[in-house]
Amino acid sequence: MLNRNDQLDAWDRESFFHPSTHLAQHARGETPTRIVTGGEGVYIVDRDGKKSLDAFGGLYCVNVGYGRPEIAEAIADQAKSLAYYHAYVGHGTEASITLAHMIAERAPDHLNHVYFGLSGSDANETNVKLVWYYNNVLGRPQKKKIISRWRGYHGSSLMTGSLTGLDLFHKAFDLPLAPVLHTEAPYFFRRPDRSMDEESFSQYCADQLEAMIVAEGPDTVAAFIGEPMLGTGGIVPPPAGYWEKIQAVLARHDVLLIADEVVTAFGRLGSMFGSEHYGIKPDIITIAKGLTSAYAPLSGSIVSDKVWAVLEQGTDAMGPIGHGWTYSAHPVCAAAGVANLKLVDSLGLVDNVRDVGGYFRGALADAVGGHRIVGDVRGEGLLAAVEFVADKDDRTFFDPALKVGPQIAAALLKRGVIARAMPQGDILGFAPPLCLSRDEADVVVQATAEAIDEVAKSLQGTS
Ligand code: PMP
Repeated sequence: MLNRNDQLDAWDRESFFHPSTHLAQHARGETPTRIVTGGEGVYIVDRDGKKSLDAFGGLYCVNVGYGRPEIAEAIADQAKSLAYYHAYVGHGTEASITLAHMIAERAPDHLNHVYFGLSGSDANETNVKLVWYYNNVLGRPQKKKIISRWRGYHGSSLMTGSLTGLDLFHKAFDLPLAPVLHTEAPYFFRRPDRSMDEESFSQYCADQLEAMIVAEGPDTVAAFIGEPMLGTGGIVPPPAGYWEKIQAVLARHDVLLIADEVVTAFGRLGSMFGSEHYGIKPDIITIAKGLTSAYAPLSGSIVSDKVWAVLEQGTDAMGPIGHGWTYSAHPVCAAAGVANLKLVDSLGLVDNVRDVGGYFRGALADAVGGHRIVGDVRGEGLLAAVEFVADKDDRTFFDPALKVGPQIAAALLKRGVIARAMPQGDILGFAPPLCLSRDEADVVVQATAEAIDEVAKSLQGTS
């Protein structure tokens, strides 16, 4: 008879197909089966009783922190009174209607209509369909191409995996699909010419975008999608002037703007929305993670009044919108969203991000910025990254086989802190719950400095 832990390990390897996992290594037991059993505040606990400070908030989604009874109770109450009813053909529930209202209240003024999905990927999939529908209604059936950025992350379905600008998500899947194009990432640290300042690099990015639109034909380009601040592609704040210059290009060519705020909405950058933070006026905003703090799966597309008017006009001409999921606006998830947004307000989390975020990034830069393998420390609010380089002056990359980023994340985990080795480049990402305190920030900074030192010493002679 296997004990419970060994039984779970065996079942895990036999039956559980993990996402984003090296299957062969996992089957050989080279990646541990980490079973997480509990969480409170910024900490999680695993089955061995090991407590870790989760400085990546799950997958940058547990914004209010773990173990909030207010959300758990709202979920339980909703499940008891009405676990499910659909939202097709004008149906709704108190929770889903209330949540749509709360989102519209918080979103920039011109964005007032919320379509609910379950994941960031399906919300972006919805966005592409809405943009295509919009141009069909306007009699421009050829205006369909979507431009995203290298290093953007927008999901891993067929269309949104195409929008994502990372090799890992393309190369084994015959992606990107034809209507998707990628333009320059606003990655100042790795700009093509070090003599460019932020404004001139922003201009360079805008010029690249405009050249692409003109070469493709503006009458074929429907939308541009971007995260206000690049996330999974490396946690990179936009250089000064970037969004202003990009929006001027889009306006010149009548191209819609989708702001993918799956990570940035609801406080992550120290403003309720990243669009507000950077002066972006999108036509559609994508939301997910922080909408429920991941207590239940829920996403949304917030549609501007301008796009909405065309969609309405389209249904008069063509009948109901032929797009929906069984679980669109699921009441249990919506109840979690209502309770979560109330907590974001009552705990003053957006203010906390401004305060503790600035403190954390400052302390991180002071502690590790001068280290010989640290090329860049960057971020905004409670979203930060440390990028490692083999040579500080030339900014050369480490040999990927050395796995410097994952090694540092592992050294950090040993010290009881979780950060994320980002998927492309040796970049360590931080996106803790928005309730992080200054003391907890100190713990993260101290452990990070030690972990970098440990790995840098072991690398001496190998790089
Ligand atoms: N957009 C962005 C900006 C994201 O960061 C993510 C997920 N990390 C997604 C979309 C996709 O969300 P999901 O994994 O829920 O499909």
